[in-house]
Amino acid sequence: MSKEKIQRPELSRLTPYIPGKSIEEVGRELKLVNIIKLASNENPLGSSPRVQEAMAKESRNISLYPEQHSAILREALAQHLGVTADQLILGNGSDEIMLLVVEAFLNAGEEAIISRHTFSTYEFVTRLMSGVPILCGTPEEPSPLEEMAKRITSKTKLIWLCNPNNPTGTMISQKELEAFLAKVPPEVIVVIDEAYCEYVESGEYPNTLAFLHDQKLENVVILRTFSKIYGLAGLRVGYGIAHPKLIASLALVKLPFNINRLAQAAAIAALEDQEHAQKSFQMNQAGKTYLYREFEKLGLTYQPTQANFIYVQTPRGGDSVFMDLMKQGVIVRPLASFGIPKGIRITIGTAEQNQAFVKALEKISP
Ligand SMILES: *Cc1c(COP(=O)(O)O)cnc(C)c1O
Repeated sequence: MSKEKIQRPELSRLTPYIPGKSIEEVGRELKLVNIIKLASNENPLGSSPRVQEAMAKESRNISLYPEQHSAILREALAQHLGVTADQLILGNGSDEIMLLVVEAFLNAGEEAIISRHTFSTYEFVTRLMSGVPILCGTPEEPSPLEEMAKRITSKTKLIWLCNPNNPTGTMISQKELEAFLAKVPPEVIVVIDEAYCEYVESGEYPNTLAFLHDQKLENVVILRTFSKIYGLAGLRVGYGIAHPKLIASLALVKLPFNINRLAQAAAIAALEDQEHAQKSFQMNQAGKTYLYREFEKLGLTYQPTQANFIYVQTPRGGDSVFMDLMKQGVIVRPLASFGIPKGIRITIGTAEQNQAFVKALEKISP
Protein backbone atom coordinates (compact mmCIF):
# COMPACT_ATOMS: atom_id res chain seq x y z
CA MET A 1 0.00 0.00 0.00
CA SER A 2 1.31 3.49 -0.79
CA LYS A 3 2.41 5.73 2.05
CA GLU A 4 -0.24 8.29 1.07
CA LYS A 5 -2.97 5.73 1.73
CA ILE A 6 -1.80 4.59 5.15
CA GLN A 7 -0.75 7.90 6.65
CA ARG A 8 -3.37 10.21 8.20
CA PRO A 9 -4.83 12.57 5.56
CA GLU A 10 -4.02 15.63 7.73
CA LEU A 11 -0.33 15.01 7.11
CA SER A 12 -0.51 15.99 3.46
CA ARG A 13 -1.90 19.38 4.52
CA LEU A 14 1.00 20.19 6.86
CA THR A 15 3.61 22.75 5.80
CA PRO A 16 7.00 21.80 7.25
CA TYR A 17 8.64 24.43 9.46
CA ILE A 18 11.32 26.42 7.60
CA PRO A 19 14.11 27.31 10.04
CA GLY A 20 16.70 30.05 9.57
CA LYS A 21 19.66 28.82 7.52
CA SER A 22 22.48 27.57 9.73
CA ILE A 23 26.07 28.81 9.69
CA GLU A 24 27.24 25.25 8.88
CA GLU A 25 24.89 25.00 5.88
CA VAL A 26 25.90 28.33 4.36
CA GLY A 27 29.59 27.65 5.04
CA ARG A 28 29.32 24.36 3.17
CA GLU A 29 27.26 25.68 0.26
CA LEU A 30 29.07 28.94 -0.37
CA LYS A 31 32.52 28.01 0.99
CA LEU A 32 32.45 31.09 3.20
CA VAL A 33 34.11 31.65 6.55
CA ASN A 34 33.15 34.26 9.18
CA ILE A 35 29.45 33.87 8.58
CA ILE A 36 27.11 35.94 10.71
CA LYS A 37 23.72 34.44 11.51
CA LEU A 38 21.02 36.98 12.27
CA ALA A 39 18.15 34.72 11.27
CA SER A 40 16.72 32.92 14.30
CA ASN A 41 16.53 35.51 17.08
CA GLU A 42 19.18 33.75 19.14
CA ASN A 43 21.07 35.65 21.82
CA PRO A 44 24.28 36.98 20.18
CA LEU A 45 25.96 37.03 23.63
CA GLY A 46 25.28 33.32 24.03
CA SER A 47 24.23 31.92 27.40
CA SER A 48 25.53 32.83 30.85
CA PRO A 49 28.96 31.36 31.69
CA ARG A 50 27.28 29.79 34.72
CA VAL A 51 25.33 27.55 32.35
CA GLN A 52 28.51 25.82 31.14
CA GLU A 53 29.57 25.13 34.73
CA ALA A 54 26.18 23.77 35.70
CA MET A 55 26.08 21.47 32.68
CA ALA A 56 29.62 20.18 33.28
CA LYS A 57 28.65 19.33 36.84
CA GLU A 58 25.37 17.69 35.83
CA SER A 59 27.05 15.64 33.09
CA ARG A 60 28.14 13.15 35.77
CA ASN A 61 24.51 12.14 36.23
CA ILE A 62 23.41 11.53 32.69
CA SER A 63 23.01 7.78 33.16
CA LEU A 64 20.10 8.58 35.47
CA TYR A 65 16.66 9.65 34.25
CA PRO A 66 15.86 13.33 34.77
CA GLU A 67 13.18 14.72 37.08
CA GLN A 68 9.89 13.65 35.53
CA HIS A 69 8.20 17.06 35.80
CA SER A 70 11.35 19.21 36.19
CA ALA A 71 10.44 19.84 39.85
CA ILE A 72 13.52 21.82 40.88
CA LEU A 73 13.50 24.00 37.78
CA ARG A 74 9.76 24.49 38.17
CA GLU A 75 10.22 25.66 41.76
CA ALA A 76 13.00 28.07 40.73
CA LEU A 77 10.82 29.46 37.95
CA ALA A 78 7.81 29.80 40.25
CA GLN A 79 9.92 31.89 42.62
CA HIS A 80 11.31 34.02 39.81
CA LEU A 81 7.87 34.70 38.32
CA GLY A 82 5.91 34.99 41.55
CA VAL A 83 3.52 32.16 40.70
CA THR A 84 3.01 28.73 42.24
CA ALA A 85 4.67 25.60 40.86
CA ASP A 86 1.28 24.10 39.95
CA GLN A 87 0.77 27.00 37.50
CA LEU A 88 3.79 25.90 35.47
CA ILE A 89 4.60 23.20 32.95
CA LEU A 90 8.00 22.73 31.32
CA GLY A 91 8.36 21.76 27.67
CA ASN A 92 11.05 20.67 25.24
CA GLY A 93 11.05 24.21 23.95
CA SER A 94 7.81 26.18 24.13
CA ASP A 95 7.08 24.45 20.82
CA GLU A 96 6.28 21.34 22.83
CA ILE A 97 3.78 23.23 24.97
CA MET A 98 2.02 24.32 21.74
CA LEU A 99 1.67 20.66 20.90
CA LEU A 100 0.43 19.79 24.41
CA VAL A 101 -2.24 22.50 24.11
CA VAL A 102 -3.75 21.03 20.96
CA GLU A 103 -3.41 17.45 22.22
CA ALA A 104 -5.22 18.34 25.42
CA PHE A 105 -7.94 20.63 24.04
CA LEU A 106 -8.48 20.58 20.29
CA ASN A 107 -11.03 18.11 18.90
CA ALA A 108 -11.04 17.30 15.19
CA GLY A 109 -13.01 19.90 13.25
CA GLU A 110 -12.79 22.60 15.92
CA GLU A 111 -11.53 26.03 14.92
CA ALA A 112 -8.43 27.92 15.97
CA ILE A 113 -8.15 31.66 15.26
CA ILE A 114 -4.60 32.56 14.18
CA SER A 115 -2.82 35.53 12.66
CA ARG A 116 -1.88 35.09 9.03
CA HIS A 117 1.53 36.70 9.71
CA THR A 118 2.96 34.97 12.73
CA PHE A 119 4.95 31.99 13.98
CA SER A 120 3.91 29.06 11.78
CA THR A 121 3.87 26.39 14.49
CA TYR A 122 0.41 27.49 15.73
CA GLU A 123 -1.13 26.58 12.39
CA PHE A 124 1.02 23.46 12.12
CA VAL A 125 -0.09 21.95 15.44
CA THR A 126 -3.70 22.99 14.77
CA ARG A 127 -3.73 21.09 11.48
CA LEU A 128 -1.87 18.16 13.05
CA MET A 129 -4.84 17.58 15.36
CA SER A 130 -7.32 17.97 12.48
CA GLY A 131 -8.33 21.44 13.66
CA VAL A 132 -9.40 24.22 11.31
CA PRO A 133 -7.23 27.37 11.22
CA ILE A 134 -9.16 30.63 10.83
CA LEU A 135 -6.61 33.13 9.55
CA CYS A 136 -6.79 36.91 10.17
CA GLY A 137 -4.66 40.02 9.92
CA THR A 138 -2.29 41.96 7.71
CA PRO A 139 1.46 42.61 8.06
CA GLU A 140 0.55 46.11 9.36
CA GLU A 141 -1.94 44.73 11.87
CA PRO A 142 -1.02 41.09 12.44
CA SER A 143 -3.36 40.60 15.42
CA PRO A 144 -6.60 42.44 14.62
CA LEU A 145 -8.24 41.73 17.98
CA GLU A 146 -11.65 43.16 17.12
CA GLU A 147 -11.87 41.02 14.01
CA MET A 148 -10.56 38.00 15.90
CA ALA A 149 -13.26 38.41 18.55
CA LYS A 150 -15.94 38.64 15.84
CA ARG A 151 -14.77 35.38 14.32
CA ILE A 152 -15.42 33.38 17.48
CA THR A 153 -18.21 30.84 16.82
CA SER A 154 -19.54 27.77 18.60
CA LYS A 155 -16.80 25.83 16.80
CA THR A 156 -13.94 27.94 18.14
CA LYS A 157 -11.71 26.16 20.66
CA LEU A 158 -8.43 28.06 20.49
CA ILE A 159 -7.06 31.54 19.82
CA TRP A 160 -3.31 31.98 19.28
CA LEU A 161 -1.71 35.35 20.02
CA CYS A 162 1.97 36.14 19.70
CA ASN A 163 3.03 39.16 21.77
CA PRO A 164 5.33 40.75 20.71
CA ASN A 165 4.56 39.26 17.32
CA ASN A 166 7.14 37.31 15.38
CA PRO A 167 8.09 38.47 12.68
CA THR A 168 6.73 42.04 12.90
CA GLY A 169 7.91 42.95 16.43
CA THR A 170 4.58 44.68 17.04
CA MET A 171 2.76 44.55 20.37
CA ILE A 172 -0.72 44.13 21.82
CA SER A 173 -1.14 46.53 24.78
CA GLN A 174 -2.56 45.74 28.22
CA LYS A 175 -5.71 47.72 27.43
CA GLU A 176 -6.27 45.99 24.08
CA LEU A 177 -5.67 42.55 25.57
CA GLU A 178 -8.03 43.13 28.50
CA ALA A 179 -10.80 44.35 26.19
CA PHE A 180 -10.28 41.32 23.99
CA LEU A 181 -10.23 38.73 26.77
CA ALA A 182 -13.50 40.15 28.11
CA LYS A 183 -15.13 39.07 24.81
CA VAL A 184 -13.77 35.52 24.82
CA PRO A 185 -16.10 32.87 26.25
CA PRO A 186 -14.57 30.73 29.04
CA GLU A 187 -14.69 27.56 26.94
CA VAL A 188 -12.30 29.06 24.38
CA ILE A 189 -8.61 28.74 25.24
CA VAL A 190 -6.38 31.75 24.52
CA VAL A 191 -2.67 31.04 24.07
CA ILE A 192 -0.44 34.09 24.47
CA ASP A 193 3.08 33.41 23.27
CA GLU A 194 5.46 35.76 25.09
CA ALA A 195 8.73 34.29 23.77
CA TYR A 196 10.21 37.81 23.49
CA CYS A 197 8.65 39.46 26.57
CA GLU A 198 12.03 40.05 28.22
CA TYR A 199 13.02 42.38 25.34
CA VAL A 200 9.94 44.63 25.49
CA GLU A 201 10.61 48.31 26.21
CA SER A 202 7.03 49.64 26.11
CA GLY A 203 5.28 50.45 29.37
CA GLU A 204 1.97 49.40 27.75
CA TYR A 205 2.98 45.74 27.50
CA PRO A 206 0.48 43.52 29.35
CA ASN A 207 1.35 42.16 32.76
CA THR A 208 -0.39 38.91 31.92
CA LEU A 209 0.66 37.11 35.10
CA ALA A 210 -0.95 39.71 37.34
CA PHE A 211 -4.02 39.78 35.11
CA LEU A 212 -4.41 35.98 35.17
CA HIS A 213 -4.09 36.06 38.92
CA ASP A 214 -6.56 38.91 39.50
CA GLN A 215 -9.19 37.61 37.09
CA LYS A 216 -8.68 33.94 38.03
CA LEU A 217 -8.77 33.14 34.34
CA GLU A 218 -8.88 29.39 33.65
CA ASN A 219 -8.75 29.63 29.86
CA VAL A 220 -5.48 31.49 29.21
CA VAL A 221 -2.01 29.97 28.72
CA ILE A 222 1.13 32.10 28.60
CA LEU A 223 4.12 30.61 26.75
CA ARG A 224 7.69 31.63 27.45
CA THR A 225 11.09 30.23 26.62
CA PHE A 226 14.74 29.92 27.55
CA SER A 227 15.65 29.98 23.84
CA LYS A 228 15.80 33.73 23.43
CA ILE A 229 17.14 36.11 26.09
CA TYR A 230 18.59 33.23 28.15
CA GLY A 231 20.48 31.93 25.12
CA LEU A 232 19.56 28.23 25.44
CA ALA A 233 17.92 27.63 22.03
CA GLY A 234 20.02 24.51 21.42
CA LEU A 235 18.97 22.87 24.68
CA ARG A 236 15.20 23.17 24.18
CA VAL A 237 13.51 24.50 27.31
CA GLY A 238 10.26 26.45 27.31
CA TYR A 239 7.29 26.69 29.65
CA GLY A 240 3.61 27.38 30.01
CA ILE A 241 1.98 29.44 32.76
CA ALA A 242 -1.74 29.01 33.45
CA HIS A 243 -4.37 28.20 36.05
CA PRO A 244 -3.52 24.90 37.85
CA LYS A 245 -6.59 23.24 36.29
CA LEU A 246 -5.40 24.03 32.78
CA ILE A 247 -1.85 22.94 33.63
CA ALA A 248 -3.24 19.63 34.94
CA SER A 249 -4.83 18.98 31.51
CA LEU A 250 -1.54 19.68 29.76
CA ALA A 251 0.33 17.41 32.18
CA LEU A 252 -1.98 14.52 31.22
CA VAL A 253 -0.65 14.48 27.64
CA LYS A 254 3.02 15.20 28.39
CA LEU A 255 5.56 12.40 28.00
CA PRO A 256 7.39 11.65 31.25
CA PHE A 257 10.98 12.86 30.79
CA ASN A 258 10.63 15.69 28.29
CA ILE A 259 13.41 17.95 29.59
CA ASN A 260 16.80 16.28 29.80
CA ARG A 261 19.13 16.62 32.78
CA LEU A 262 21.59 19.00 31.14
CA ALA A 263 18.80 21.28 30.00
CA GLN A 264 17.18 21.37 33.47
CA ALA A 265 20.51 22.22 35.11
CA ALA A 266 21.27 24.83 32.45
CA ALA A 267 17.90 26.55 32.77
CA ILE A 268 18.26 26.83 36.57
CA ALA A 269 21.71 28.37 36.16
CA ALA A 270 20.49 30.75 33.43
CA LEU A 271 17.66 31.94 35.64
CA GLU A 272 20.10 32.64 38.48
CA ASP A 273 22.15 34.95 36.25
CA GLN A 274 19.74 37.85 35.77
CA GLU A 275 22.73 40.13 35.18
CA HIS A 276 23.41 38.29 31.95
CA ALA A 277 19.79 38.76 30.90
CA GLN A 278 20.04 42.47 31.75
CA LYS A 279 23.23 42.80 29.70
CA SER A 280 21.50 41.07 26.78
CA PHE A 281 18.57 43.48 27.03
CA GLN A 282 20.85 46.50 27.01
CA MET A 283 22.84 45.27 24.06
CA ASN A 284 19.57 44.74 22.19
CA GLN A 285 18.48 48.30 22.96
CA ALA A 286 21.76 49.74 21.68
CA GLY A 287 21.64 47.59 18.53
CA LYS A 288 18.06 48.64 17.88
CA THR A 289 18.92 52.35 18.02
CA TYR A 290 21.91 51.84 15.72
CA LEU A 291 19.96 49.80 13.14
CA TYR A 292 16.98 52.20 13.08
CA ARG A 293 19.37 55.03 12.23
CA GLU A 294 21.11 53.03 9.51
CA PHE A 295 17.81 51.93 7.95
CA GLU A 296 16.74 55.58 7.85
CA LYS A 297 20.01 56.55 6.13
CA LEU A 298 19.41 53.83 3.55
CA GLY A 299 15.80 54.92 3.08
CA LEU A 300 14.44 51.53 4.15
CA THR A 301 11.05 51.17 5.78
CA TYR A 302 11.21 49.23 9.04
CA GLN A 303 8.77 48.40 11.80
CA PRO A 304 9.82 49.66 15.26
CA THR A 305 10.18 46.55 17.40
CA GLN A 306 9.50 45.36 20.95
CA ALA A 307 11.65 42.28 20.42
CA ASN A 308 15.21 41.30 19.42
CA PHE A 309 14.54 41.41 15.68
CA ILE A 310 13.39 43.98 13.13
CA TYR A 311 11.03 43.56 10.20
CA VAL A 312 12.35 45.53 7.21
CA GLN A 313 10.58 46.09 3.89
CA THR A 314 12.78 45.57 0.85
CA PRO A 315 11.74 47.13 -2.47
CA ARG A 316 13.05 44.22 -4.51
CA GLY A 317 11.74 41.36 -2.38
CA GLY A 318 12.85 39.38 0.65
CA ASP A 319 14.13 36.26 -1.12
CA SER A 320 16.51 38.08 -3.43
CA VAL A 321 17.81 40.36 -0.65
CA PHE A 322 18.29 37.30 1.54
CA MET A 323 20.30 35.52 -1.20
CA ASP A 324 22.53 38.54 -1.83
CA LEU A 325 23.17 39.12 1.87
CA MET A 326 24.05 35.45 2.25
CA LYS A 327 26.70 35.78 -0.45
CA GLN A 328 28.15 38.56 1.72
CA GLY A 329 28.21 36.15 4.67
CA VAL A 330 25.17 37.47 6.54
CA ILE A 331 22.17 35.19 7.08
CA VAL A 332 18.83 36.95 7.66
CA ARG A 333 15.29 35.58 7.41
CA PRO A 334 13.24 36.13 4.26
CA LEU A 335 9.57 36.49 5.20
CA ALA A 336 7.78 34.80 2.28
CA SER A 337 6.95 31.85 4.55
CA PHE A 338 5.30 34.34 6.94
CA GLY A 339 3.17 35.66 4.07
CA ILE A 340 5.31 38.80 3.63
CA PRO A 341 7.27 38.32 0.38
CA LYS A 342 8.72 41.86 0.43
CA GLY A 343 10.06 41.54 3.95
CA ILE A 344 13.14 40.34 5.72
CA ARG A 345 13.60 39.89 9.45
CA ILE A 346 16.93 40.66 10.99
CA THR A 347 17.94 39.57 14.48
CA ILE A 348 19.63 42.38 16.40
CA GLY A 349 23.22 41.21 16.94
CA THR A 350 26.33 42.47 18.69
CA ALA A 351 27.64 45.89 17.66
CA GLU A 352 30.18 44.25 15.31
CA GLN A 353 27.57 41.95 13.76
CA ASN A 354 25.17 44.85 13.21
CA GLN A 355 27.91 46.89 11.54
CA ALA A 356 28.87 43.98 9.28
CA PHE A 357 25.20 43.55 8.36
CA VAL A 358 24.83 47.24 7.48
CA LYS A 359 28.01 47.10 5.35
CA ALA A 360 26.61 44.10 3.47
CA LEU A 361 23.28 45.87 3.06
CA GLU A 362 24.98 48.94 1.59
CA LYS A 363 26.81 46.74 -0.94
CA ILE A 364 23.73 44.96 -2.25
CA SER A 365 21.26 47.88 -2.56
CA PRO A 366 18.12 46.21 -1.23
C1 LIG B 1 11.54 31.46 19.06
C2 LIG B 1 10.10 31.40 19.34
C3 LIG B 1 9.60 30.49 20.29
C4 LIG B 1 10.52 29.63 21.08
O1 LIG B 1 10.42 28.34 20.74
P1 LIG B 1 11.22 27.26 21.59
O2 LIG B 1 10.56 26.00 21.18
O3 LIG B 1 11.01 27.58 23.03
O4 LIG B 1 12.65 27.36 21.18
C5 LIG B 1 8.26 30.48 20.54
N1 LIG B 1 7.43 31.32 19.91
C6 LIG B 1 7.88 32.21 19.04
C7 LIG B 1 6.93 33.15 18.41
C8 LIG B 1 9.21 32.27 18.71
O5 LIG B 1 9.64 33.14 17.81
